[in-house]
Amino acid sequence: MEIFTQVLICIIMLFFGSVIGSFLNVIAYRVPIKESIVKGRSHCTSCGKQILNRDLIPILSWIILGGKCRFCKSRISPRYMIVELISGLSFVGAYLALGLSTELIYAVILFPTLIILSLWDIDRQEIPYTCSIIIAVLGLISLITSIFIPDGAAWYEHLIGAAIIAVPFAILAFLGAMGGGDVQLMAAAGLLLGWSIVPAALIGILLGAIGGIIIKAVTKNNVICFGPYLAVGIAVGYLFGNDIINAYLGLMG
Ligand SMILES: [Zn+2]
Repeated sequence: MEIFTQVLICIIMLFFGSVIGSFLNVIAYRVPIKESIVKGRSHCTSCGKQILNRDLIPILSWIILGGKCRFCKSRISPRYMIVELISGLSFVGAYLALGLSTELIYAVILFPTLIILSLWDIDRQEIPYTCSIIIAVLGLISLITSIFIPDGAAWYEHLIGAAIIAVPFAILAFLGAMGGGDVQLMAAAGLLLGWSIVPAALIGILLGAIGGIIIKAVTKNNVICFGPYLAVGIAVGYLFGNDIINAYLGLMG
C-alpha cells in the first residue's frame, strides 16, 4: 500500500480511537454516579458550565485550553486527555500490526473494553463483569469462526487459552492472592487469544510487579489493582503473542 494511504489510515485510526476514548471517559465518569451516558451534554465538574462544541475535540482541546476550564479556569485532570491519547494510539498500533483485517475489527472492540476495565479497576479496585463478558463473546465468535475457517488458532487452542492462565489464577484467588475479576478476565481473554494468553499473562505479571513496587515507593499506598497491567499484557499478547511465542521457541532451538 502506498505510504500516503498508510499515513491517512493512521490519522483516521488516531481520530476514531480518540473519539472512542472520549466516550470511555464519559462512561467511566457517569455510569458509577448513574447519569445517562447518551443524554446530557458534558459539563465542567467545577462550575457546571456546558462544554462548548469547539472544546470537545479529543486530545487537542485539553492541550489548547492548557488543561483548564474555559470559564472558571479550574484544573481539568490530564487523565481525560491521556485516556483519549492511549485509545487513539492503541487503534493506530492495532492497524500497523494487523492491517485491514478481521483481527483489526476484534481489536477495535477489545482495546476500548480493556481501557474501560482499567479505569474501573483504578477507581474502584474491581474489574466489571460486563467487560469480561464482552471479551468472552469476542472469544466465542473467534472460536466458532476458527472451526469453519481454519486460520490462526485452532478451535481447541481457544479452549486451552481460556483455561491455561485462568486455572492457576483461580487457585491464587482461592488463596486470596488475587481478585475474582482477574480470573474472569484471563479466562475471557484466553478464549480470544489462545496460546498468546501465556505471554500476555507474563507481561501483565511483570508490569504489575514493577508498577506495584514503584507505586508503593512513591505513594506508600498498598492498594493493588492488577487490571491495567493485565490489560496491557492482553493488548500486547493480542497483537504480538504469536511472534513472542515463535521467538521463544526459536531460542529454545
Ligand atoms: Zn469550569
